[in-house]
Amino acid sequence: EAKEKGRNTFHFYSQELNAAANERLFIENELRIALKEDQFVVYYQPQIDSRTQKVVGYESLLRWFHPTEGLIPPDKFIPIAEATGLIVELGEWVLQESCDFVVRLTEQNRENNVSINLSARQFKDSNLVPTLSKMIITSGVSAKRLHLELTESMLMGNVEAAIAQLHELKALGISISIDDFGTGYSSLSYLKRFPVDILKIDRSFVQDIPEDSNDMEITAAIIAMAQKLNLDVVAEGVETIDQVEFLQNNNCFIVQGYYYSRPIPESDLPDLYLKLGEVPFKKVM
Ligand code: C2E
Ligand code: MG
Ligand code: MG
Ligand code: MG
Repeated sequence: EAKEKGRNTFHFYSQELNAAANERLFIENELRIALKEDQFVVYYQPQIDSRTQKVVGYESLLRWFHPTEGLIPPDKFIPIAEATGLIVELGEWVLQESCDFVVRLTEQNRENNVSINLSARQFKDSNLVPTLSKMIITSGVSAKRLHLELTESMLMGNVEAAIAQLHELKALGISISIDDFGTGYSSLSYLKRFPVDILKIDRSFVQDIPEDSNDMEITAAIIAMAQKLNLDVVAEGVETIDQVEFLQNNNCFIVQGYYYSRPIPESDLPDLYLKLGEVPFKKVM
């Protein structure tokens, strides 16, 4: 009986493995088609200054609308795009879209930053800096509006190479942000050596405020440390007014999260501005 059960368990397990492998293969194949067929859209999630309720920037978040599967979330396809190398082309597309988005905002006198996630593969790519440099010139974007989000793990490993790459990016006028801060191996001495500008406190520390006192201590400590190191700090995953107030009381004013807005398509920006209490923008015909 035990033997039978074991066999069944194995059978079940291998079926699951098969399903996972098939899904992976499916996504890999479909990813190649998706770029050509325009199935991707960049959504933008606002970063708000909680003191003024004004948008200070946006994070670009990739969305894949597959013709038969519907919306496939980034966590499902980014790792596969990364493993196959397709992320380089896909990431370049996100960068281009984001530059064009900033230009359109600037034309509306909106001096907002746009923050773009980079994958490890893109960051290591020797073409990244020349590609970005060209993109900045041809799009006419002001480079100081561009922020690149990296994770701590991307900076470890070859630290010297990472520092050199960061300096080249910064020489273009771009700012560097550390995403999901606190979840990686953040050595403080490293942090001081890397030319970074912004820390984004990971959602996992924010989500249980004000119930979890440890998370509150950690969040307050990250903010204090950022201030000491002269870094800006953004809190992500902010869902409640209690969290906004806790962050304000601890000197973190730039917040991103469902409390203010989910990631939205550009066409929803007018609704966002209305919700934030802006006077409706009158179109000059
Ligand atoms: P991330 O960069 O840490 O982005 C934040 C994620 O948290 C987004 O998930 C966002 O929708 C979600 N989020 C924002 N506010 C809240 C909140 O208040 N509550 C909750 N529960 N979630 C919130 P999303 O869009 O599914 O993206 C997941 C991850 O996929 C991103 O994490 C990023 O690592 C990656 N990703 C997304 N777009 C790109 C891209 O263009 N390039 C690369 N390389 N990675 C991307
Ligand atoms: Mg991010
Ligand atoms: Mg994050
Ligand atoms: Mg993340």
